[in-house]
Amino acid sequence: MNNVRVCVRIRPMQPFELKNGDVPTVAALPDQKSLRISSSVDNKRKIETQQIRFDQVLAPATTQLDLFHKSGCESFCDRAIDGFATTVFCFGQTGSGKTFTMSGPSDETHQHAESETMGLQFRGAHYISSVVEQIQEREGAGAVVMKASYIEIYNEHVNDLLNDTTNLKVRWSQKGQSFFIENLMIVTCDGIDDVLAVLEEGANNRKRASHKLNVDSSRSHVLFTMYFERRVGETSPLKMGKINFVDLAGSEKLRDSESSGVNAVETKAINKSLFALGNVIQCLSSRTATFVPYRDSTLTKLLMDSLGGNCMTLMVACVTPSSRFTEE
Ligand code: ADP
Repeated sequence: MNNVRVCVRIRPMQPFELKNGDVPTVAALPDQKSLRISSSVDNKRKIETQQIRFDQVLAPATTQLDLFHKSGCESFCDRAIDGFATTVFCFGQTGSGKTFTMSGPSDETHQHAESETMGLQFRGAHYISSVVEQIQEREGAGAVVMKASYIEIYNEHVNDLLNDTTNLKVRWSQKGQSFFIENLMIVTCDGIDDVLAVLEEGANNRKRASHKLNVDSSRSHVLFTMYFERRVGETSPLKMGKINFVDLAGSEKLRDSESSGVNAVETKAINKSLFALGNVIQCLSSRTATFVPYRDSTLTKLLMDSLGGNCMTLMVACVTPSSRFTEE
């Protein structure tokens, strides 16, 4: 498998779009690897029909369970338990289905394994917890230790969503040759209930903070991370793996953000980190790049040890099919 895997998920047309008379202009082709963008006139500019290939293209009817399997998310979870660093992130404009894809519909709590609408991080958490449980039953409780943290990056600042502390420092570790967050709360999880409690606490704190500060939560990046210490046998060294589930801030263009009156500082911060992430991914995908600009944003600093090298990255690009956003 390649180190960077890109899936596109086209969400269904929403009732308000259909009511507006919008038509779908983006479609998945039957090979499930190609995406077709139909021509339309958008902002007086004619956009030609084009086809683009990705590792996987998921049509609007794709269920959350299909998404989990077809995106390959399961193997990213397996690799993390096995001592590698992996990242799963959702990218796209606001309203394109990032949160739905990462978590599920916002009004559900997804506590149950049988919930059909669970998004990637909940489904991943259930899958991981059951694999860890099987290993522990087979090899003993100490064979895997599982931990979790939950943070938000807002205007380049790190906020810990588990203990409600803001503006945590990001520091360089000479020993680990990577960045880390000072005083980050990392919780040991003894099973799925503990992991779900972390997810619930993080989501509640995020909601509370965004109400208190009157900020739109789609303007921040959210990182839910699960860490693993895997011991195989008495003498072999401990394997340290982790998986980041990242729900990125909306990627809409500055032009649109300005017209909707969004704070310029927020927009600059979002553009900076998404631009930096794009550059990093591009360098990692290119066989010739010798320098990867991780230090350009808080987001890429924190993902430095989970992108590139032996790490695996799954990008789920969420797409709005509506003719209104064809250019996006
Ligand atoms: P974003 O996080 O990118 O801003 P959301 O995840 O909030 O977008 O999705 C916008 C709306 O579209 C929500 O009402 C959500 O429930 C709906 N939606 C998104 N993706 C899907 C999907 N695959 N199936 C059904 N509804 C979806």
